[in-house]
Amino acid sequence: APIIVWFRQDLRLADNPALAHAVGSGRPVVPLYILDDQGAAPWAPGAASRWWLHHSLSSLGAALEGLGCPLVLRRGRSDVVLRDLVRELGAGAVAWNRCYEPQAIARDSALKADLKAGGVAVDSFNAALLAEPWTVKTGGGGSYKVFTPFWRAVKEGLTDGLNPGEPLPSPTALTALPTPPDGDRLAEWALLPTKPDWASGLRAAWTPGEGGAARRLAGFLDSAVGQYAEGRDYPAQPWTSRLSPHLHHGEISPRQIWAAAMAKGDGAPEGEGMDKGVAGFLRELGWREFCHHLLYHFPFLPERPLNPKFEAFAWHEDAKRLEAWQRGRTGYPIVDAGMRELWATGWMHNRVRMIVGSFLVKHLLLPWTAGQAWFWDTLVDADLANNAGGWQWIAGCGADAAPYFRVFNPVLQGEKFDAAGAYVRRWVPELAGLPDSVLHQPWTADAMTLRAAGVRLGHDYPHPVVDHKTARQRALDTFAAIKDDN
Ligand code: FAD
Repeated sequence: APIIVWFRQDLRLADNPALAHAVGSGRPVVPLYILDDQGAAPWAPGAASRWWLHHSLSSLGAALEGLGCPLVLRRGRSDVVLRDLVRELGAGAVAWNRCYEPQAIARDSALKADLKAGGVAVDSFNAALLAEPWTVKTGGGGSYKVFTPFWRAVKEGLTDGLNPGEPLPSPTALTALPTPPDGDRLAEWALLPTKPDWASGLRAAWTPGEGGAARRLAGFLDSAVGQYAEGRDYPAQPWTSRLSPHLHHGEISPRQIWAAAMAKGDGAPEGEGMDKGVAGFLRELGWREFCHHLLYHFPFLPERPLNPKFEAFAWHEDAKRLEAWQRGRTGYPIVDAGMRELWATGWMHNRVRMIVGSFLVKHLLLPWTAGQAWFWDTLVDADLANNAGGWQWIAGCGADAAPYFRVFNPVLQGEKFDAAGAYVRRWVPELAGLPDSVLHQPWTADAMTLRAAGVRLGHDYPHPVVDHKTARQRALDTFAAIKDDN
């Protein structure tokens, strides 16, 4: 009887414990992917993620085909589809790697119990995290809400027997069924945009799939990681790894990244002699772990503030301002550059995510959930845990969050992290002719400077949608109201 390997957010052959288990079982292997928008609702993949998913499945399908074992694509409620396929094939076993979204956990636990009751062997594995969320506990046995002690505990666990260990190699051969089951053709799923085709910037920026992920990691460790500690905050520079969409789709595992980075860094994490860049990079992987840990322990994270005080926060709903933010037309160049980079490439630099996020929730007083929803649809790395974690952090209502009263000044942020203006000039080309001195605040430029740069404010580029000082005060007053309520 065959074994079904149910691929989900682990679209790779190497370091894939469920696949390795299937190979080891000696049974014929049936690799399966199920598109289940209904079951994932309200967090079915957004448009940019679907673009990525198409290419990632295409790459995984080709790799499996190369091993003589075609990937079966089916669509529908995943629990129903999986049970049907088990019956259709008389499968004796199912294996998968764990997902951590609340709906996925509920679905998988029920499925596991049900299949086991029917005499089918079910095995699940950790392929996505350095440490399972339930294994990282405070001294008192609770879950961490502060990053630094959480990360310390994870690292202590790693050097203490819980070491993520050597990544598993890719299988070199798979035994397929003589007649593999039918499935959909990938093109039928219409994951790619048609009219308009907005994906040209995505195609130029990314190579989805396991090969693309491995090359990205190797390139980063070879040429950028040395600059990471100082350089990771500068959005014009290529000094972060851009592994996030590959990680989200599981084209590469944190264990593979860890092993490669440690080989490069030659030492204990963040210990004496550890390369600063490598340590800083691994620490960011730690934030990914932390967000997954939070989502596991606080499954309402994408919907409700972790800090309940914020339930009473008086957000403004303003469709026009939301649209100005989404389209990169707020009149603040660094904010607009970020939003346009996101729209064009499906990705935004972390420093700029913080700036645009802060602008949305503090300057515009729009709810963080509106920003989260836009990111969900437009990011190729949209990830329930990291997105909710990032937004709650920036809104000041999350775990170990930026305090609400710390309001980023978008002009100073631009001047500090894009001093030479390369980032703004790239993404807001209508301002490219302005001198650095006014690039981040074009409304302060005199008429002659504007004319010389060919900029007509209010025509080519908007006036600021809000005044920084006024908006800042309004944010602080609104915050004070919920603070005093309690
Ligand atoms: P690197 O700096 O090279 O970091 C390596 C890896 O560590 C990343 O690929 C990512 O997996 C992880 N990582 C880095 N920073 C963070 C962080 N702050 N939180 C969690 N994980 C991190 N990241 C997502 O993957 N998906 C999201 O949907 C997402 N939404 C965000 C929303 C907001 C408002 C903010 C402020 C941040 C969000 N992030 C999200 C985190 C972070 O911005 C991205 O992970 C990072 O910019 C990806 O670029 P990189 O791969 O070059 O990162």
